[in-house]
Parts: sequence; structure tokens; C-alpha cells
Amino acid sequence: MCERLQRDYARRTAGVQSCAMDLSRAVDSVTFEVECPECQNKIKLAVGKIRANPVVQCANGHKVQIKADTSDLDKGVGEVNKAIKGLEDTIRNIGR
Ligand SMILES: [Zn+2]
Repeated sequence: MCERLQRDYARRTAGVQSCAMDLSRAVDSVTFEVECPECQNKIKLAVGKIRANPVVQCANGHKVQIKADTSDLDKGVGEVNKAIKGLEDTIRNIGR
């Protein structure tokens, strides 16, 4: 691989990697609303927050356990990361 191609590759894969990280962050920042089963207050949540702690409090202090399954979301991110990995390999092979 000549030097120019190596540089080119490093630049391109750096972009690909930060793209994969952005995606994971983007999933974490997705917000949704649930209703408190006690007082029907709307509680706004971010995916990243319930991933860290699935118990939230409504405005009246009721504790609500969120049963949302984030593993499907993670699976989605995993699929995209795999696709990006494949893209990386393709880019890498261009220099050969
Ligand atoms: Zn409540």
C-alpha cells in the first residue's frame, strides 16, 4: 500500500468509526413518553437514561419501572455497526 493510500484509508475509517459512535449516542438520546400508572402524569424519558436505570419517578414522586426492552435497539445498532465494519473491510481492500 502506498503512503497516500494509507493516509487516505486512515482518514476514511476515522470517519466511519465516529459515525458508528454517533449512532449509538443517537439511540441513547431518543426520547419517549410513558404514563404514570398511578396518576397518569406523562414522564419524558431518554433511551440512554432507562438503559442506565429503568426506574423513573413521575412529577408526583411515584416510582415507575420501565419494562421497555432496549436490546432490540442495541441489536439494530449492532447490525448497522456490522454493516459499517463490512464497509471498512471494503475500503481497506481498495488499497490492495
Ligand atoms: Zn404518578
